[in-house]
Amino acid sequence: MNYSKKLEKIPPYLFIEIDRMKKKAISEGKDIISFGVGDPDLPTPDFIVRAGQKALARPQNHQYPFGAGAKNFRQAVADWYKRRFGVELNPENEIMALIGSKEGIGHFPLAFIDEGDIALVPEPGYPVYANATVLAGGQPYFMPLKQENGFLPDFSRIPEEIFRRTKIMFLNYPNNPTSAVAEEQVFSQAVQLAKKYDFIIAHDAAYSEIYFEQKPISFLAVAGAKEVGIEFHSLSKTFNMTGWRIGMAVGNEKIIAALTRIKDNYDSGVFTAIQEAATVALADGDEFAEKNRQVYRRRRQVLAQGLKTLGWDFTLPPATFYFWVKVPAGFSSFDFSRKCLKDSAIVVTPGSGLGPSGEGYIRMALTVDEKRIAEAVSRLAKIK
Ligand SMILES: *Cc1c(COP(=O)(O)O)cnc(C)c1O
Repeated sequence: MNYSKKLEKIPPYLFIEIDRMKKKAISEGKDIISFGVGDPDLPTPDFIVRAGQKALARPQNHQYPFGAGAKNFRQAVADWYKRRFGVELNPENEIMALIGSKEGIGHFPLAFIDEGDIALVPEPGYPVYANATVLAGGQPYFMPLKQENGFLPDFSRIPEEIFRRTKIMFLNYPNNPTSAVAEEQVFSQAVQLAKKYDFIIAHDAAYSEIYFEQKPISFLAVAGAKEVGIEFHSLSKTFNMTGWRIGMAVGNEKIIAALTRIKDNYDSGVFTAIQEAATVALADGDEFAEKNRQVYRRRRQVLAQGLKTLGWDFTLPPATFYFWVKVPAGFSSFDFSRKCLKDSAIVVTPGSGLGPSGEGYIRMALTVDEKRIAEAVSRLAKIK
């Protein structure tokens, strides 16, 4: 049996070795503390669960949802974008519901990429941008995110002939894994380039509500952005709803229409009961989102304090729930991650698994409670 050439081009799951070692350690009864996965450990708040339960019981929600999403959900997204970002969106044609933003990002290149076309992709980064490009027959061109540039892409290093073949530029701020936040200027530069070379910008804003300093802006708040781009958003991180699978794509009407056409051929919409719960989350969730930030802020404090006493090199994350930590001299990301697991039963993500520029770093997710973070730090103090 032969797999498609496209599938063969997708790199193997890079954390497979760490994952295998983690499972082995668990089977040996080791008390693992995992900073590995970016999946909130705390439950979805009650007011959202209750809204979901009620919606689940309504028979009219039991049929195919179809289309761009329920009217109420799209209106709630428009209201939230206006309130939170000062961005006006038309719920009729500038908003669509997604089965989690990963689903939307994954299908998106199919609408714009032909054989040999290029998508500009940040690295280290969320693997879906590059892999979805490859599965659509395109070619990712990687934009390294380096500490000396504040983990922003250096557009001046991208050759003219690459820009000419570019159909999509992916951006992601606040950034997974580096935790960097983008200022308006980066988005404006990207918009200028998109206009000059006629490509689309897809901004992934999954972490816009996990911030500790200045509130991150929406890409769509930048002048001209809606002419060339869309923003992917998600309720997963903001409301601890990763399991529910709901997100949204918002922005340029033509781009939304194209994504809708692709999706019409792959799925039949987001379960309406989940859209109803998400509607309540967006309408009434500001207070919870703030409480959630306080949880991560306290955890951030404990981990930062701990890593400081260990003498590890890191920047305090201004947003996201990730610490992007330099590995000690003499170790590769992978070797150091393996050592954390073997010697201390601590799982971290090797930065090199998220792209070559991630070499020399590990990522630690704040999805562990304060007591366990303190315990992890005292264990890590013993590794030599
Ligand atoms: C978690 C995450 C998402 C959100 O994924 P969902 O499919 O909405 O759960 C999107 N982008 C990045 C970079 C993420 O880390």
